Amino acid sequence: MQAVSAGDLREAARLRAVERFDVLDTPREAAFDRITRLIKTVFDVPIAIISVIDGHRQWYKACEGLAVNEVERKATFCQYTIPREEPLIVADATKDPRFANNPMVSSDPHIRFYAGVPLRTRDGHNIGSVCAIGYTPREFSDRDIAILQDFADLAMDELELRQHASSDALTGVLSRRAFIDQGGKAFALAQRQRFDFSCIVFDVDHFKSVNDHFGHAAGDKVLSGVARQCSATLRDVDIFGRVGGEEFAVLLYTGRSGALESAERLRATIETMRLAHGTQEMQVTASFGVASFDPGTSSLQELIERADAAMYHSKHAGRNRTTAWNSSQGDQVRPRRRVLKAGQIVFNARMSTIDCTVRSLGEDGATIDVSNTAGIPGQFLLAIRADRFEAKCRVVGQAERRL
Ligand code: GH3
Ligand code: MG
Ligand code: MG
Repeated sequence: MQAVSAGDLREAARLRAVERFDVLDTPREAAFDRITRLIKTVFDVPIAIISVIDGHRQWYKACEGLAVNEVERKATFCQYTIPREEPLIVADATKDPRFANNPMVSSDPHIRFYAGVPLRTRDGHNIGSVCAIGYTPREFSDRDIAILQDFADLAMDELELRQHASSDALTGVLSRRAFIDQGGKAFALAQRQRFDFSCIVFDVDHFKSVNDHFGHAAGDKVLSGVARQCSATLRDVDIFGRVGGEEFAVLLYTGRSGALESAERLRATIETMRLAHGTQEMQVTASFGVASFDPGTSSLQELIERADAAMYHSKHAGRNRTTAWNSSQGDQVRPRRRVLKAGQIVFNARMSTIDCTVRSLGEDGATIDVSNTAGIPGQFLLAIRADRFEAKCRVVGQAERRL
């Protein structure tokens, strides 16, 4: 096993910062689109990008001039911007040994010019970059750099704003951060006063196909509809938040049977909801998991993980249903830690590695994101260098970019 380098640890801390901002795979937003449009106009370049760098990929929060919304990290210019404190300016990529052989330089789209500034958090982690890219060599003056830096600061301010917002911009319910904040206080109170206390987690079923069918804007409408209907069904004292893209959670001062009833009520509310989309009607269902506080529950995090594990049980059992967590089920469906870690898929007698991002990790398995599943064998070693972790894995299921 390789030693853990300072770079691995720094990268692990950087990914924790990325996770705190919770921005990966969020929808496009006008505030960021505006910044990339301005960069394009002000510098008269064909491409402008605001990106966040994940474990294995560069993901675009906003992008002008390219049709993709993510690329493999290894292939990017921005990976060189991330470890730096200063901007990275490449006047002519064909004359720079780091980039001359980059496929985006040597062939289509024939990038020549690159200027990138890191997106730096207050605690000093570069979570992404803001860059301007051109097809012809050019100089970039100190004044230009200062302007690009201002745009990066603007983008960072927007990200900070979202992080501190207590309500979710799309649905108006509590943001993930506010949910955890308020939930933590409620949990402490319930623990101290021995109040009944439960958590419901639910995730909209096959939501990707709603987006694919009706478009992203219609998907947004469904999410706000779900949030609105569920808020109306819940009591004022219940704590209700959007904890992921199409995942919501509720904390209630009630025991297991009360929580199961509430979950079933919410499930029925969603199932009967109809939203018009032109002449069509949109209808969705959601899968629910419920966990109740018992003397063995040590933290809010644990309670949420149990509800989450129960929710996955509902998914596996056919979706649109509610499952209550119990300890025996916990042995089968171990709560998976949600994580964001840079990993490597190692195979071919350790001769081949593929970078990946580990999204969840439990004793029963892991969820891994890659840029492309082609060429990954059915069995491999999963290594997380920063944790000195290695485990033999077998692929049990895969999607386009997920194992
Ligand atoms: P499952 O039943 O297993 O949960 O399937 P799913 O398709 O819902 O799950 P998956 O996690 O594969 O896809 C979730 C999708 O939700 C992918 C993502 O693009 C979409 N999504 C996340 N946040 C938003 C959002 O704010 N707006 C819209 N329109 N889509 C979103
Ligand atoms: Mg879903
Ligand atoms: Mg989901």
